[in-house]
Amino acid sequence: MERSTIVRVHEGLHARPATRFVKLAKGFESDVELVKDGKAVSAKSSVKLMLLAVKENQEVTVRANGADAIEALEALIGYLENPRAGLDDEAEAQSPANDAGQEAAPAPGSAPAAPDGANRLRGVAASEGFAIGPAFAHFPPDIAGQGRMLQAEEIEGEIDRFRMAVGAVQARMDHALAQDSLSAGDRGIVAALRDIAADDTLTGEAEGLIKGGNDAVSAVITAASTIAAEFSAVDDHYLNARADDVHAVGRQICLVLLGQDDVSLENIPEGAILIADDIGAWDLARAPLKRIGGVVCGHGGATSHIAIIARSHGIPAVLGLGGQVDALRTARDVALDGNAGHVIIDPDEATRADFAGRVEAAAKERAGLTIFKTVTPKLADGRIIEVAANIGSLEEIEAALEAGAMGIGLFRTELLFMRHMHLPSEDMQAETYAALAKAFAPYPVIVRTLDIGGDKPIAGIEFPDEENPFLGWRGVRMCLDRPDIFKRQLRALLRAAVHGNIKVMLPMVSDISEVRQTRVLVDECTAELRAEGVPHASFDLGVMIETPAAVLIAPALAKEVAFFSIGTNDLTQYIMAADRLNPTVAKLNDVTNPAVMSAIEMTAKAGVAAGIMVGMCGEAAGRPDLIATFVKMGLTELSMSPASIQRAKKAIMAMAAEG
Ligand code: PEP
Ligand code: MG
Repeated sequence: MERSTIVRVHEGLHARPATRFVKLAKGFESDVELVKDGKAVSAKSSVKLMLLAVKENQEVTVRANGADAIEALEALIGYLENPRAGLDDEAEAQSPANDAGQEAAPAPGSAPAAPDGANRLRGVAASEGFAIGPAFAHFPPDIAGQGRMLQAEEIEGEIDRFRMAVGAVQARMDHALAQDSLSAGDRGIVAALRDIAADDTLTGEAEGLIKGGNDAVSAVITAASTIAAEFSAVDDHYLNARADDVHAVGRQICLVLLGQDDVSLENIPEGAILIADDIGAWDLARAPLKRIGGVVCGHGGATSHIAIIARSHGIPAVLGLGGQVDALRTARDVALDGNAGHVIIDPDEATRADFAGRVEAAAKERAGLTIFKTVTPKLADGRIIEVAANIGSLEEIEAALEAGAMGIGLFRTELLFMRHMHLPSEDMQAETYAALAKAFAPYPVIVRTLDIGGDKPIAGIEFPDEENPFLGWRGVRMCLDRPDIFKRQLRALLRAAVHGNIKVMLPMVSDISEVRQTRVLVDECTAELRAEGVPHASFDLGVMIETPAAVLIAPALAKEVAFFSIGTNDLTQYIMAADRLNPTVAKLNDVTNPAVMSAIEMTAKAGVAAGIMVGMCGEAAGRPDLIATFVKMGLTELSMSPASIQRAKKAIMAMAAEG
């Protein structure tokens, strides 16, 4: 008995949805298979399901055979057709399904892996910050099998030994999951490993090899390599990273078989820099993270589990050093710069002093600034300056609140589009915007509509080849040409606006007609939602001022919108005609250039004269040396990365005190 359907599960049968699907399937006696493109796999194995790489909106067939086949088909088809199914654990911050989107880190794989000098190495900057400390080399010996074939009479015993080892690893992971001390993010990672250990794909493959005469350790090593290779071959970043997880689980099983404990990180000295060729996420999640000063690793990139754990615990990390990491095996001390991806082996006195100074200065500054977390900066004339956060994902909410953000001045929605394999659905977007609104209420949350162009292509939008993508089809220009995408976002925003604190702003505006056309679409969306009986509310519409054209028409624009937010990053590059990504013209790309400062002043004047709020969300908003100037120009909102918030509040208070 079989039935076909189109998969509506958000994001397809990825990690957690695959596990849920398997749980559901296992509840039935019948044999159940899922078929995609003629390939059938057991619906009772989450690893096999993940490897089938079923995506949202693809057609699949569910096949069931047995006494409860009808019920099984009904339940499983119901799950596949539920668009909310993949959202079940959106709230699990940094669950593996969310890994790819840890945008706090630079793009993976961007760092060259060539030595800079005898004792300087360069890798992937995976978690920001500076660290210097004693090296703690963690190079557990390679695990090898017995290297002989088993006799027929040994096989049964070997299978028993293997099953006991698997049981022990599962129990260990269950125990880890039961600990309250595990953070939500780390719990998601351990749970993903537990799923692999509990799945019969790895164990089945290994048992097959044992039956063929391999000893258990050799069988596990081979089975893990085979399955990891399948994960590596899938065209999906998230699934590629699962290859490391399969190896990690395989290693744990082998260690139990060999009666060995993994080299423990338990004894890592305070402030030490952990050096390894590869650290299993499982090992790192259980390590005394508070004591680890930094992480340096041959494997891994910005989206690997190690990077995610390091970032969420504020540990600077440089990963992806490749074979260069061998040079660190005998290092005594290591300095690392997680912002640039640099590692220095046994630094000389001057470098030591430099790094020690940076680490100390950062810690001192952090400690001295915490008193500003709850401060509401007020000027002598009573005006409140809102110091808000720029973020791009729900995972950053905690850091923004922790820093004392007075709302969100820029929610970059690009990531929402880039981290998924498909254009995000309206429901998924509405939930994301609503979660933001709730987290920061009563402060405003300004969501920027999709600001993307041909330099950052995303799945589902065909960008033309352009000579100058920065001057091309991007931001509001692209959105207005693709009302199918734009209206989906606007509808989601109207739905989230029922929370009362959502504002919306348009990027890359250069002509007043762009605002007017957007309003027409907003009205259309409102009428549709009303007709459908979907709860919604209106929102304030503002614009980013980041093109010279917008500055020059600011007085006219101010009459049509509720607020301005100055995007100094783009405004500087466009005013100065100096590419913001080109280091050769970096000197020109200077916000303090009088040309840029006068554009900011013109914008502020136009906004103040029209009585609308003028804010800033470019990098310059967080610069303590410029804040007083901006505030004097009339800006009442400054939005920045959470790390700059307390420093900015301090600068405003100092200015207020001066009168
Ligand atoms: C800006 O241009 O200043 C800005 C805030 O937007 P982005 O950096 O995302 O282009
Ligand atoms: Mg911009």
